[in-house]
Amino acid sequence: MSTVRLFLDIPLAADRAVPLERDHAHYLFNVMRLGQGDEILVFNGQDGEWAAVVAETAKKRGVLALSKQTRAQTELPDIELLFAPIKKARTDFIVEKACELGCRRLRPVFTQHTNSERLNLPRLRAHMIEAAEQCDGLSVPVLEEPLKLRDVLAGWKDRMLIFCNEARSAPEISAALASFPRGKAASILIGPEGGFSPTEMEAIGSLDAAVPVSLGPRVLRADTAAVAALAVVQSRLGDW
Ligand code: SAH
Repeated sequence: MSTVRLFLDIPLAADRAVPLERDHAHYLFNVMRLGQGDEILVFNGQDGEWAAVVAETAKKRGVLALSKQTRAQTELPDIELLFAPIKKARTDFIVEKACELGCRRLRPVFTQHTNSERLNLPRLRAHMIEAAEQCDGLSVPVLEEPLKLRDVLAGWKDRMLIFCNEARSAPEISAALASFPRGKAASILIGPEGGFSPTEMEAIGSLDAAVPVSLGPRVLRADTAAVAALAVVQSRLGDW
């Protein structure tokens, strides 16, 4: 079984004793059945990954002792995913897979055809932390407060906006990105299940920074489109 990894929202440094919160103590001692002397790995998105030994156990608390840094901090590629929230389980899927595939920021946007107007951000953040813990991540992407697509577009500057457009006329995504260098900052925009409205299509298309792309001849569901686009963008511009 692989070593347990925990995201801790505190500074990590040599010889630090870390008091555990109730949920972490419960997870380590009751769920994973760890005890004194067992080793886990911890990270906080800033100080790399550290080996930590269980120094004290208690029913609702405990203490970890940090021993040594096991990996230096790295940055997530400067790739953002702008997505329209869809049904709960499918939004969970988008958020989880985006963490696994690797991106720096997730930005929910409400569009004219957005099916869902509510988003439980703390729940989604918890989901993202879990994904980062499980996929050997050193950081958790930032989950932004949702904004209206209209407002996001109105303030758009020159950051590349990879506009996933199922209309047949858009060039295929990897061809469309072929001339851009690795490491280029990019945002990916995926529409809701009902697609973008004609007004939205026009507003997106009129941005100089927009690069319309196709994800192939089949219309994908929004969650599939997010994963497919992120995979191609990661492999062309990101850290794959
Ligand atoms: N227009 C359709 C489908 C929307 S699919 C409808 O009215 O039901 C949801 C989103 O996934 C789209 O807005 C688009 O961003 C993305 N998408 C799906 N299939 C795609 C493809 N083949 N190429 C590019 N983007 C796609």
